[in-house]
Amino acid sequence: MTLEIVTVPCLSDNYAYLIRDDRTGATAVVDAPHADPIAASLASRGWRLDKILITHHHFDHIGGVERLKRDHGATIVGAASDSSRLPPLDEAVSEGDSVAVGDAVCRILDVSGHTVGHIAYVFPGAAFTADSLMALGCGRVFEGTAEMMWSSLSKLAALPPDTEIYSGHEYTAANARFAMTVEPDNETLKRREADIARLRSENRPTVPSTLSLELETNPFLRARLDSVKASMGMPGASDAAAFAEIRKRKDNF
Ligand code: ZN
Ligand code: FE
Repeated sequence: MTLEIVTVPCLSDNYAYLIRDDRTGATAVVDAPHADPIAASLASRGWRLDKILITHHHFDHIGGVERLKRDHGATIVGAASDSSRLPPLDEAVSEGDSVAVGDAVCRILDVSGHTVGHIAYVFPGAAFTADSLMALGCGRVFEGTAEMMWSSLSKLAALPPDTEIYSGHEYTAANARFAMTVEPDNETLKRREADIARLRSENRPTVPSTLSLELETNPFLRARLDSVKASMGMPGASDAAAFAEIRKRKDNF
């Protein structure tokens, strides 16, 4: 099984991702912020769209679903628990379920926190995390609790370290500025900040990243470390409490 993944910038700073199973030609899109760039990207490759994989109910992730469904007859996949707020689902899924794109099969993780009912699509080697785990960051906790988001991030942190992380927004440069306030002496983070600045100056995406790089540099995943708790002035705090404090500081950054 070989997956081809195409990053499609949408709106001002969203990403949609086309996923194509090379053998069967089956193609899905993860989130549909806006139909136009996704339709154009499909057309330029001569691909049809079989499935729309929705991560969560926010409009900047589903605004293009209706039109893509109408134009391509694609099947809509999303969280069963959040079906009342999503476009009508053809495939309603829950944690542990599998979703097939041709021969490629992903597993669903519930990664609630940003919203309750946010899911991630985890293929072997590639996780689509939208507004849960992001490059050097995580989504704001709008609906869930800090404990809920911490538990969601912990599930993602346990994936194989070489997993590529495809998140929903290009927020990485701002995330890097904040991360440096948490761990100013993290050498890997300093190098990553320079890489991000170079990519953005060339107007290139900073996604995907890898889980291993996130584990070494993302302050939200690193809330568990004694060194990070100490630098937050919270030695001995629980992991979730340290995470909550880092999230609060980022909200006010
Ligand atoms: Zn969102
Ligand atoms: Fe979003």
